[in-house]
Formats: sequence, C-alpha cells, structure tokens
Amino acid sequence: MSVLNHYQDFMVSQYENFPQSKYLTLVVLRKAESEMIFRTEGSGEGLNRDLVHAGLQDRERIPRVTISKRKQTAVERRTGRELLRQHNLLFDSDGKTEGKDDDICALNRNKPCGVCADCMIYGYAVGGGGAQKSRVITDDAFSILSFQSVTDKRTFNALYDNNTMRDPVTQKASPSIQEDEYVRPGTLFIDIETLKDLTAKEIQYVIGNILRSRRYGAITSRMGKMQNSIVSAIFSDCELFSNLELTQSVYDRLKDQDQAAFPLDEQQVKAEIQQAVESLSRQVIGHLKPITEQELTSLMKEMQTVFSSPENAKTLLDSVTALYKSND
Ligand SMILES: [Zn+2]
Repeated sequence: MSVLNHYQDFMVSQYENFPQSKYLTLVVLRKAESEMIFRTEGSGEGLNRDLVHAGLQDRERIPRVTISKRKQTAVERRTGRELLRQHNLLFDSDGKTEGKDDDICALNRNKPCGVCADCMIYGYAVGGGGAQKSRVITDDAFSILSFQSVTDKRTFNALYDNNTMRDPVTQKASPSIQEDEYVRPGTLFIDIETLKDLTAKEIQYVIGNILRSRRYGAITSRMGKMQNSIVSAIFSDCELFSNLELTQSVYDRLKDQDQAAFPLDEQQVKAEIQQAVESLSRQVIGHLKPITEQELTSLMKEMQTVFSSPENAKTLLDSVTALYKSND
C-alpha cells in the first residue's frame, strides 16, 4: 500500500470534473550537472534572468537565472509520454490506439486525444472541442544564488582547416566568434510543483516524471543534465507560498551562516529548504498536512519499485488511464 493512502482526505479517489481544493505541493531541488543553457533556441538571447530581492530579509536587488515553467513541464510531459507511447496508451481523436500514427496524440500537434494520462493531468485544449486545465501548476524556477555567481561565458571559435581564426585563402579574420552564456554545473534551483485534485496513482505518475527527467535546456545541441530531487511534500486545502518566496527564505538562511557562495552544499540546502518550508507554512491560512520525512523516503522507494519493472510501470499507467475511460 502506498504511503499516499495515509492522506486520503487530501486526494480525490476518481477523476473529478469540478475543483475539489485538494492540493499536494512538491518542493523540487533541481541541480545542474553539466553546463546548461536556458533560452529560446536561435534567438540570440542570453540566459533568462529576473531582477528580484536577494532574500525576504536581505533586500539587496540581484538578478537570478530563471527556468520558465513551460520549459520545465514540457520536459516532464515528454518523459511521461515516452512511457505512455511505449505501452500504447496515447490515443487518436476517437480515443482509440488503432489510428494512423499521424493521428495519435502528440505535443504541439493540435491533435490532443483528451483521454490519455498526459492530456488529462497536464491539460489540453482543442479549438471548439474539449479542454482540460492543467492540474499540475508550476511557476518559473529561480537559481538560489545570483546570476553572476552561477553563470559564465564562453567564446566559441569556428576554426579553419589551418587551425587558426584566419581564412587560409583570403587571410581575413573569421567573423564567426560566438559567445554563449551558460549555467555552471552545480547550480541549484528551487521549484514548486502544485498538484491539484489528483488521485494517488496520478500523483505517482507526476512524481515519476519529475524524478525520471534528466535533460533540460535549449533543445538541439546544448541540452544539459539536471538532477531533480523532492525535498518536501505537503498536502493542503489551498495553495501555499511561491517559488520566489521559498528561494529568498533559503537564501537568507544560507547568508546568515555565511554559506551563500558558489558552489552550495546540496545537503545543507536541502536542510534549509525544509526549515524554510516549515516557517513559510506557518503563515499560510489553511489546513496543511506535510508528509513526514520518513514517509517521503518510503514514497521515493515506492517510485523506484514502480519504475524498475515495465510490468509495474504498465500497471500504474493502465490504472491512471482507466480513470478517464470510465468517464465516457
Ligand atoms: Zn492525449
């Protein structure tokens, strides 16, 4: 039995058309494990950044690197969809799997099936037809430290055959020097994903997507490796605090201990996040029930068991998919 079953009051038992105010807030720590670039490919822009206050106490204004919410969920949706595709659980517009390949539900092709786990959990819309609001609510994620301390620049030279920047024929200097800004490996981002009105199985599906997604960033050549861990999980009857508030609160705590410098100690950051979550939770007006640390560890083990065998994964995906079929 899943540890999630201890929290029945905060989950729905079947798919509901109407909002039920049952929330699960997942606090995710995202760690860059290689150089990463987050920007619109080919746009010539630098990394995305926002000018914000350093902490809730420390009111110095600093720029932080941001990862857009759209980029994060797109990666995680794709991870889940790969598995659904593997088990024939993506459908065509008639809700069948026998359709031609080009009719099968796919991201950004304007032919969502409206009955697969991805459409029903992360949302879809068809012009004039059905729609489902995303039940996974996210926000832009912020780096804990300032833009300056977590990024670097690199110049890329396109060398000629003679291994120099000078054209061997014309002797002219090469114009193709490009500069790329990148996020340094070891950079930590704090992110909150709010799951709304999901069943226990749907929650497992979403957590699986978060934990199994490893590649983020600009799509073509410069995808970076990222590791996600879930540091805290809180059931509630309302939405909690924002990514930015939590990031600022963690920053204050690190700064108080003179530890707000690159590279951050991941274990210390996790401990500070837990403290910050506790403190910010006290200001929320609503009924909150955090998953205990021990239960969170068991939940992560459960996830390992589910995804370590294709049979177990299929059982989970089948039971999620069945939630929507029964609605027909
Ligand atoms: Zn679909």
